[in-house]
Amino acid sequence: TELLAKPIEKIRTQLEDLQKADASIVRINELFEMKSEISDGPGVTFPDGPLAVEFKDVVFSYEGAEGPPTLKGVSLKLAPGEVLGLLGRTGSGKSTMARMLLRFYDPQQGEIRLGGADIRQAKVDELRARAAMVTQSIEIMQATVRDNLTFYDDTISDERIVAVLEELGLANWYRTLPQGLDTMLASGGGGLSAGEAQLLAFARVFLCDPGLVIMDEASSRLDPLTEQRIERATQLLLEQRTCIIIAHRLATVQRADRILVLEDGEVLEFGRRTELAADPDSRFSRMLKTGMEEVLV
Ligand code: ADP
Repeated sequence: TELLAKPIEKIRTQLEDLQKADASIVRINELFEMKSEISDGPGVTFPDGPLAVEFKDVVFSYEGAEGPPTLKGVSLKLAPGEVLGLLGRTGSGKSTMARMLLRFYDPQQGEIRLGGADIRQAKVDELRARAAMVTQSIEIMQATVRDNLTFYDDTISDERIVAVLEELGLANWYRTLPQGLDTMLASGGGGLSAGEAQLLAFARVFLCDPGLVIMDEASSRLDPLTEQRIERATQLLLEQRTCIIIAHRLATVQRADRILVLEDGEVLEFGRRTELAADPDSRFSRMLKTGMEEVLV
């Protein structure tokens, strides 16, 4: 029962969250459908450290969607530790690629490999322990600060949690918590500023220490101090792992080793950033001249 207590509590708070978040029957159905599509593979031992990533001719359509597929044969290859800037207009399929890497959907054709293994071979939990997504803000559960940050992984020590909070510039925030890491957070994260919520999302990823990070960079600006902290957190994150960034800022794009420009579910350009930047005919070099809007809007 001890073993089950935490998962059950997690499900309970998630159900609560769902009910609160104006959950229509449709949304609940979506959740179950999502679950039923995906099944655990036999299991894989992913290598330690940064992970290689490969998309091989991935074709994907959302269930029930008509017209051409959302992804029409996407291929890319990243060596361990490389940083990919994923660019493309709204609706081109960037988030779909990100969600497929975490197996929220499986391709109808082609395959996705992580650390050399087809991700369908892995157990879903195994995969999501080694590949994580940083979104624009953290989804706060009604649980303690500790559980929100570790997702109930009790092998992560309090010292490590506090060290990460300090590293990310959240030391002052931490000191205001009445019961320290035992302080309960309200579901939805009421009481946290947007900047704090974003930095906590980073903290969660640092503590999980995945070999692949997928980052959906925030497009909205925050106050200068928070910007600076997020900038630093991003840099720290990129240094130690393979990273795919759906980038909205030129400064972030400039840190990428490789660039992929997606258009209508197809790879328009994929290559080394320096090479694409030096090619006057590339969409990417045009974007560098005219601003991000060229490929983002
Ligand atoms: P991007 O991240 O580049 O803005 P998305 O991956 O979100 O693009 O979307 C790609 C296409 O897939 C869009 O046409 C979008 O409307 C469609 N799409 C996204 N999510 C879903 C979904 N859950 N069900 C059906 N279609 C979707």
